[in-house]
Amino acid sequence: MSHDDPAANAAGAGPSRSPAPDPHAATPSWQWPEPVWRGHVEAVRAGRGLLPPRWPDGARVAVALSFDSDHETIPLRDGETSPGLLAQGEYGARKGAGRVLELLERYSAPATFFMPAVSALLHPDEARRYVREGHEVGVHGWIHERNTLLAAEDEKTLIRRALETLTDITGRTPTGIRTPSWDFSDSTLETVLDLGFLYDSSLMADDEPYEVVAHGRPTGLVEIPVDWIRDDAPYFTMDRFTALRPYTRPRDVLEIWRDEFDAAYRDGGVFQLTMHPHVIGHRSRLVILRELLDHVSGHRGVWFATHDQLAGTARDQLGRPTASNSPTEQP
Ligand SMILES: [Zn+2]
Repeated sequence: MSHDDPAANAAGAGPSRSPAPDPHAATPSWQWPEPVWRGHVEAVRAGRGLLPPRWPDGARVAVALSFDSDHETIPLRDGETSPGLLAQGEYGARKGAGRVLELLERYSAPATFFMPAVSALLHPDEARRYVREGHEVGVHGWIHERNTLLAAEDEKTLIRRALETLTDITGRTPTGIRTPSWDFSDSTLETVLDLGFLYDSSLMADDEPYEVVAHGRPTGLVEIPVDWIRDDAPYFTMDRFTALRPYTRPRDVLEIWRDEFDAAYRDGGVFQLTMHPHVIGHRSRLVILRELLDHVSGHRGVWFATHDQLAGTARDQLGRPTASNSPTEQP
């Protein structure tokens, strides 16, 4: 939630419960029988690791950059219509996205832009430019809705509509989804599978891609894991009505991300990063993205991949015997 709405987290609003009836909802967790707590844990779980034995062209590391082009949808999602709040998001479209695209072009780095459909409808030329310049556009909800508050059917309707809208605007059918705020409702996984997505990029159970398992059943869905550590928003977001302020200097964030990359490089794994044009696109922050790309590009064997390309490579591992690609094996 906090990559776009840290105030809610800071205020103690934890993951919302699904409206689905739960006979144990009124029972405190310490009184749950084992099938209940075990059932919650096993509903959506990390399965086999999908790290390939080698990356394309003999690369040493896969670098998967992503940008969530939320723009105005964060306030809109909450029914906030004040021009002041909307302008903060508008900055992402007006200044941030273009700066990010110029930087990616300079480093010949394809990336993935997850875009709420309403954001794409507000900025259709931007969505088309992403595709035209060799990047991927992925689904990121309709209006950045809080999926855990929705009935299953409503959540599905919105994701389907988002998929159709992005396809209409860009001429490409998205293959991946990042759920708004990285949240999963009790029905999100089923919806993602029903709509035929190749991959999801919202969960955090590993550093490397893995197969999502539902109640013990492998689903074939590739997960490209994310984490708050590799997200710009938690470091830089501020809310004027709460104590929430940016608490890390941009150059300190650069150091964290560099360490993440260096370790991924040593492991022969994936360095995945999530940013937002309205957050990273400011002058004093874009400089750390440029310095990070300088650092990354200074290494031999870097494969800049869109999330779709990375998921395709990971999915190839599904057909291999489990023993040959255990999560601990390194290329
Ligand atoms: Zn978002």
